[in-house]
Amino acid sequence: MRNPSSTHRRSITLALVASVLAAASLHAQAPAAQLAPLKVVDVAMIDTTARACTNFFEYATGGWLKRDTIPAAYASSGVGRDMLNRGERVARAVLDDAAARRASLPAGSTQRKLGTYYATCMDSTAAERQGMEPVRPMLARIGAVRTRAELLDEVARLHGEYVNVLFRYSPEVARHDAAHYQAQFFAGGLGMPDRDYYTNPGASADSMRAAYVDHVATLFVLAGQAEASARSDAQKVMAIETELAKASLTRVARREPSATDHPMSVAQLRALTPNVDWTRYFQAIGLARPGEQVNVAEPAFMRRVSELLASVPVEEWRAYLRYHLLSDASPWLSTPWVRESFAWGRRFSGAREMLPRWKRCLGATDGDMGEALGQAYVQRTFPPEARARAKQVIDDIRAAFAERLRHLEWMSGTTRAQALSKLSGMGEKVGYPERWRDYARLQVAEQPFVLNSFAANRFEFERRVGRPGTAVDTTEWGMTVPTVDAYYDPTKNEMVFPAGALMPQTFDPAADDGANYGSLGGSWAGHELTHGFDDQGRHYDARGNLSDWWTPADSAHFVQQADLVVRQYDGYLQVDTFHVNGRLTLGENIADYGGALVGYDALQRALERRGRPGPIEGYTPEQRYFLAFAQSFRQHSRPESLRTRVTTDPHSPAEWRVNGPLGNMPQFAQAFGCKPGDPMVRPPETVPHIW
Ligand SMILES: [Zn+2]
Repeated sequence: MRNPSSTHRRSITLALVASVLAAASLHAQAPAAQLAPLKVVDVAMIDTTARACTNFFEYATGGWLKRDTIPAAYASSGVGRDMLNRGERVARAVLDDAAARRASLPAGSTQRKLGTYYATCMDSTAAERQGMEPVRPMLARIGAVRTRAELLDEVARLHGEYVNVLFRYSPEVARHDAAHYQAQFFAGGLGMPDRDYYTNPGASADSMRAAYVDHVATLFVLAGQAEASARSDAQKVMAIETELAKASLTRVARREPSATDHPMSVAQLRALTPNVDWTRYFQAIGLARPGEQVNVAEPAFMRRVSELLASVPVEEWRAYLRYHLLSDASPWLSTPWVRESFAWGRRFSGAREMLPRWKRCLGATDGDMGEALGQAYVQRTFPPEARARAKQVIDDIRAAFAERLRHLEWMSGTTRAQALSKLSGMGEKVGYPERWRDYARLQVAEQPFVLNSFAANRFEFERRVGRPGTAVDTTEWGMTVPTVDAYYDPTKNEMVFPAGALMPQTFDPAADDGANYGSLGGSWAGHELTHGFDDQGRHYDARGNLSDWWTPADSAHFVQQADLVVRQYDGYLQVDTFHVNGRLTLGENIADYGGALVGYDALQRALERRGRPGPIEGYTPEQRYFLAFAQSFRQHSRPESLRTRVTTDPHSPAEWRVNGPLGNMPQFAQAFGCKPGDPMVRPPETVPHIW
């Protein structure tokens, strides 16, 4: 994600696949075969030889899992991939059409830019011919850096192109004034997916680090450097990044909002980082007014950056900047670059072959011009009736959670009143933006695609750079319309569901309530809503300000019950001998559990209102609710991807996202007749009681 903010996504799996597999096949694709429609509950996926009370995930999805082979280009298969494959067909038709007609569209129009963006990406012949020529001017710029002042200028220029070097500047919603944006500074600058890759002990971590040095050296050799000097420069890059990694907080430490809440004046920022000329930096990125106060998420990290800027020779910094530029550009250059980029990424995904070029270009176009693509996408896929029905499910979820809050025995009246006010103040966005983004300032041309890609990055950076001190844009979306995902943003207190996620298998206006409330209701809307009250979300108030509105006793109860959730998931195996990290995944696990509870209640409301149908395909509404919940997490992952996710993914593996919450619920045991002692009935003393 180019703009990682403090949002909580339902799943990051697809984003991970897209970023680590951003590599193209150079061969044209055969015409696409028809894809079968997805069902919210698909009884053909059930493994009737498994027992629901022993392993419900296996029961609900095992029939599918036994038959499934993960396609060679993917890290995993399952719901997200199946939905994306269908959405991509629609988006591709929109883009093919815009690309074919672009010469006849008005110059400067968004549609023409959209067509040009996709068409230049698809032009593999030009990419082969051009090799690395398109990025030579940018490399020359880095090569010309001689002084530390010039170094900072170059860091600023690369930040303006979203190249991840040193640290990250981003205007975000202010932690204590949610109505306004604030300049914020985050740790950054690493080429591997997490700081732990640099610091973990052991042979497998050592071999990943050796592979990284090889990869960096390979890019330098491709760029024309001699082998020996490429290797030596690669080791310098590794040395710099290791220092940055050691100074960075772990993902688990960052979960605590107060750990990254360090408001300070620009004068204090200067005192913290004496070797950074901030006046020069702000000028170079185009930020006229940084504001009275900025937030430095990790002061110790920024202090280290300042020290390194003074102590590391400029020549070593040039190698570091060069690598990051080449790394970002390589997926869009000629075959040797693309192959190396893929070979490195597959270590984290396990993918066996590259994605076809059209999928990679579609992903890039969606990422960079998603709101231009989204308008046509919505017209073709998401009628107003579907939106209205989805909103009804989400409304029932809100009402069901309010009801739970009113009856929670452990929560005091004071905290309860605040929680209810946070819930009623929670915003929701369903389907598509009310106001579409204006792409007038985006510069797209008939030129090498890598240059269009950097131009799109500059457009996005310039769109946001001057925000500190201005009013927060409450209409803005953090995901594009075709995205198969959703999020809750605590700083805006809102949940967001793109149209791409509101399709079968998640939701079908024609499906029964059991199915829709289990999937869209429980595992999507209920999940996102309760993020507002999870271990992170509960620290923000109704308006999105970081503030403690909990009484000490309620807070203590929450922490104690959350610790039971940590213990529950720490006990689950993820891959090989690695266990789930119960602290890293705590917020998502609380949301999965809360979602399952609230979705169940919402189904009861819907059944009262609309009447209770008899069994459908042999299952009661409650059974279909749990089947839909479980099937909504249907996923089959490669071990490489599961290993990466132990470190980077705040979500548990699919099996535990199902069996974890349902094993805590008497409603589940009742629906399937499970008895104490069955593996799907957890002993009462281990069951957390939060919602
Ligand atoms: Zn989530």
